[in-house]
Amino acid sequence: MTSSVRHNLGSFLPWPLRHIIQSIVRGVNKMTDCIFCKIVDNKAKATIGYQDDQATAFRDINPAVPTHILIVPNKHIESVNVLEAEDEQLMGHLFRVARQLVEQEGIAESGYRMITNTGAHGGQTVLHLHIHLIGGQPMKHPMG
Ligand code: 5GP
Ligand code: ZN
Repeated sequence: MTSSVRHNLGSFLPWPLRHIIQSIVRGVNKMTDCIFCKIVDNKAKATIGYQDDQATAFRDINPAVPTHILIVPNKHIESVNVLEAEDEQLMGHLFRVARQLVEQEGIAESGYRMITNTGAHGGQTVLHLHIHLIGGQPMKHPMG
């Protein structure tokens, strides 16, 4: 529903207006039924490994490898498809959080992957932007 609103807005509204309305829609999204928003707000259970005013990291409920952590922005952003210039610092911050987590997890030297799935072909199942931080074992190549 919200994504269709967003797509429709994009087609006919001038950018400044579109930007303001998208920000409002994002705020509203926070109160809707998003499991990652609930985890960020401590309204749903998760094993949280890191949290600050911008980002939260918690263990994936269904780990694919020994270390499988999800790093999310605290504000609801549906996917990379709706990132704005104002989100640049936040996206960089998610990588800085990852840098801290790999030290904590002891996988900085052995190596790891960071993956962000987007849309149906990307395999995105939760519509709140997240980075999978996976490691703790050698990973298969090639991707895709
Ligand atoms: P996606 O498929 O969108 O890239 O990744 C979503 C990830 O979120 C999956 O790996 C899935 O196991 C994880 N996940 C889905 N629901 C929950 C939940 O309620 N708690 C936690 N910790 N992880 C979840
Ligand atoms: Zn959300």
